[in-house]
Amino acid sequence: MSSTQDNRFQAIIAHAKEYGFVFPSSEIYDGLSAVYDYGPYGSELKKNIRDYWWKSMTQLRENIVGIDAAIFMHPTTWKASGHVDNFNDPMIDNKDSKKRYRVDHLIEGFADKLKAEGNDKEANDLLAEMESLLEKEDYASLKKLIDDHKIVCSISETCNWTDIRQFNLMFSTQIGSVAGEAETIYLRPETAQGIFVNFLNVQKTSRMKIPFGIAQTGKAFRNEIVARQFIFRMREFEQMEMQFFIRPGTQKEWYEYWKEERMKWHLSLGISQEKYQFHNHTKLAHYADAALDIEYEFPIGFKEVEGIHSRTDYDLTQHQKYSNKKLTYFDTEINQHYIPYVIETSIGLDRMFLLILSHSYNEETITKEDGTKDSRIVLNIPEKLAPVKLAVLPLIKKDGLPEIARILINECKPHFKCFYEEKDTIGKRYRRQDAIGTPYCVTIDHQTKENNTVTIRYRDTMKQERISISEINNKLKASVIL
Ligand code: ATP
Repeated sequence: MSSTQDNRFQAIIAHAKEYGFVFPSSEIYDGLSAVYDYGPYGSELKKNIRDYWWKSMTQLRENIVGIDAAIFMHPTTWKASGHVDNFNDPMIDNKDSKKRYRVDHLIEGFADKLKAEGNDKEANDLLAEMESLLEKEDYASLKKLIDDHKIVCSISETCNWTDIRQFNLMFSTQIGSVAGEAETIYLRPETAQGIFVNFLNVQKTSRMKIPFGIAQTGKAFRNEIVARQFIFRMREFEQMEMQFFIRPGTQKEWYEYWKEERMKWHLSLGISQEKYQFHNHTKLAHYADAALDIEYEFPIGFKEVEGIHSRTDYDLTQHQKYSNKKLTYFDTEINQHYIPYVIETSIGLDRMFLLILSHSYNEETITKEDGTKDSRIVLNIPEKLAPVKLAVLPLIKKDGLPEIARILINECKPHFKCFYEEKDTIGKRYRRQDAIGTPYCVTIDHQTKENNTVTIRYRDTMKQERISISEINNKLKASVIL
């Protein structure tokens, strides 16, 4: 990461805290690593992103329904899904700094450096060899690869490494009221399994016919080792997942379909296409026959925000085996029973939140009316997602202006989130609204009393115009409501 990128990332983190978007968890106790709390504007923005996803995936699609499964699940779920045996990351510790790294991240970081120095071929050969060794789980040779390339720890700057070991990422806890009879259960590391175990319940009760999908949003937990990139990689995070159940043999076309659909969803927010790219997986997870990431150019580089996975019939077959319950579907069109194949779209809500902040955060130099220069920090959040849609600002605290402002707010607040403020100059109030991404500010002044007009000011262009107060509610309803 260049220092300008790093500065931008640090500025976003500081801004998120200063304006009540994201706080370190339990900060008065010095925080908890890789766990964060969302403040008043953050929780609004997060909710709006969740709603935007939910609406586009369920309300606007007749063949997708939603569920809300519990975080705790029967422990056999995770045996069947492969998480108990396979949800491991190979890790390596630096003996001098005691810092632990995920092996693939350590080698990828080194490859990035090689690329930055113009050694693309060496970097690509290294990555290809790493992937092949990871696939074979040949950890002795992987360790040798790290030693041969003299890859150093970023803290101690030495290559004094331990052997590579596996580390399971699931958090466990105990369930059961009688001491000694407790059973180990896991905090779910993904929401997908809650969908698979409910496949037949949902299909039957909603009378869904293949192809159809089940969507869910909710918390997931992973004991991430490398967790120092703000809300990019958290130990407690939220996923928005959809499993699309299809006839075996049709997975290639549905995979392509969902790849395009999900990219369209991202672009529908008005974010430029150049900031996105697809990254096809060469090393596939044990359950997948094709997989790709939708990557976004964060200030920390192009990184995954969403995964599209062709999961075959792996999960349902495993649950059928472990539960001894039939999980087949009868397809009346072709008169056949089969276990459906699945295409999954899985996006991290917190990562999407970081994406929106990264896209929106702008430090601008502006020229004032008198020709002097000024600066502002503005969040150009897509209107549909903005935490507050309208700020109503009486020019002064008297002469009946606050009362008019209150009437306008009372009319608008059932439809969208409004904010009232009467303190400080109008200029200062505009800046505060820019900083939280409010797309519209309305100023009530003495002229309002005479002819019922107000000044509306647009966040992105800073243009102002006079419009009738009676137009505000409809104008905003049309442009900001999901
Ligand atoms: P990564 O390679 O970054 O660890 P992953 O491939 O393990 O991610 P998936 O299991 O495919 O991720 O999860 C789907 C989505 O959930 C990811 O695209 C990401 O947006 C989100 N996600 C996964 N792990 C985390 C995390 N620790 N913190 C925040 N979001 C996460």
